[in-house]
Amino acid sequence: MTLALGCIADDYTGASDLANTLTRCGLRTVQTIGVPADDFPLPEVDAVVVSLKSRSIPAADAVAASRKAERWLRGRGATHVLFKICSTFDSTDAGNIGPVMDALQEDSGDAIVLVTPAFPGTARTVYQGNLFVGAVPLNESPLKDHPLNPMHDANLVRVLGRQSKARIGLVDLATVARGADATRERLSRLASEGVRAAVIDAVFDADLETIGQAALAHRLSVGASGLGLGLARGLVASRRVRAGSMADDTTQREVGGAAACLAGSCSQATLGQIAEAERVMPVLRLDPERIIAGSEEVDRAVRWARERLAAGPVLIASSATADQVAAVQSRHGREVAGHAIEQAMAAIAEALVQVGVRRLVVAGGETSGAAVDRLGLPGFLVGPEIAPGVPVLRAVGGRHGEMLLALKSGNFGGPAFFGDALTLMR
Ligand code: ADP
Repeated sequence: MTLALGCIADDYTGASDLANTLTRCGLRTVQTIGVPADDFPLPEVDAVVVSLKSRSIPAADAVAASRKAERWLRGRGATHVLFKICSTFDSTDAGNIGPVMDALQEDSGDAIVLVTPAFPGTARTVYQGNLFVGAVPLNESPLKDHPLNPMHDANLVRVLGRQSKARIGLVDLATVARGADATRERLSRLASEGVRAAVIDAVFDADLETIGQAALAHRLSVGASGLGLGLARGLVASRRVRAGSMADDTTQREVGGAAACLAGSCSQATLGQIAEAERVMPVLRLDPERIIAGSEEVDRAVRWARERLAAGPVLIASSATADQVAAVQSRHGREVAGHAIEQAMAAIAEALVQVGVRRLVVAGGETSGAAVDRLGLPGFLVGPEIAPGVPVLRAVGGRHGEMLLALKSGNFGGPAFFGDALTLMR
């Protein structure tokens, strides 16, 4: 097995976004949760995205985790590794983008690293090294008030310069517009002048395709899902991977088994989706007070589900309206209530899988994370898209054997999301 592309993502949702982008470009992609064990049963795929939680941890820990991921990916034959960062360049002067880039560059031996967080599909563009979010520079966007890493400078040459030991240069849009050869030449010239990393302008997907082609001559690049798209299209264009090879047995095989949905998100979209699901499947609404009081509510939910699973899918929801959530939070505190309910949903997920559920849909980002951790799932093969940004996931290397999951962040999906998901999860 030789991976065409290895990716190290600095957070889980960014990893899913990238894995989904690569899959849509035709790459067979596995997303792993953390660095996999050496005996992880990696299927025949083109790309692996290792999901870390390294965006806001101490820089030395981020470097160690990223290096471990890189070794694992290179050990599986990855010639090119993308260090996947946020398209708004979330970081502080202490890191972690610069320190991780420096360490991975040292390991890769590349003279110069290409860096661009551009992702035109979500209105992130880079011009003259300045990152724009929609129509405004980064430092005028809502990112200026981010609770963990407020971004006060849109000039990425400067931002990265403060984080990295390397001298940082710029490849401007005029050069990118002249094509991959011109971009490569400019990179070599910068490298010969002692520049070790270059921010590259990109405004349209076509620019990312050019950059992707240029990047494939290197062993390392740093960017968001947009650069993933450029690299994937470059791999398909150069026939290093065969586009559309998803339709093989590994991804299409039916899993069968019982199906269940869990909702812990209280977003408007999810509340609407639960109401819609009530027309097509039995729905149990949990009592948040009883969840926080002890494990009886979990037992009640599992008993309720067991009586119905043989007849078809069921949905169990803790979700409530904003007023109800505020009332619960004022009594118990936001953290305590959120954590207790997430853990209850995870316990329900585990109990349902123990009684034969093999197709599981989870609504809510934190709720999904808690469920995946509890089920001990080390990775997923990314399948077809149910709704923008929400693919069907096939568990790889889990202790429960074959399983399909759909993990959606609260606001995603149309009104019929739960039914739509189960239609694709067979
Ligand atoms: P989203 O993707 O919509 O943000 P999350 O699962 O990430 O959804 O977050 C929802 C949070 O709300 C979780 O911490 C969950 O435990 C909590 N929660 C779920 N139901 C309730 C409720 N009825 N009252 C208070 N908090 C709740």
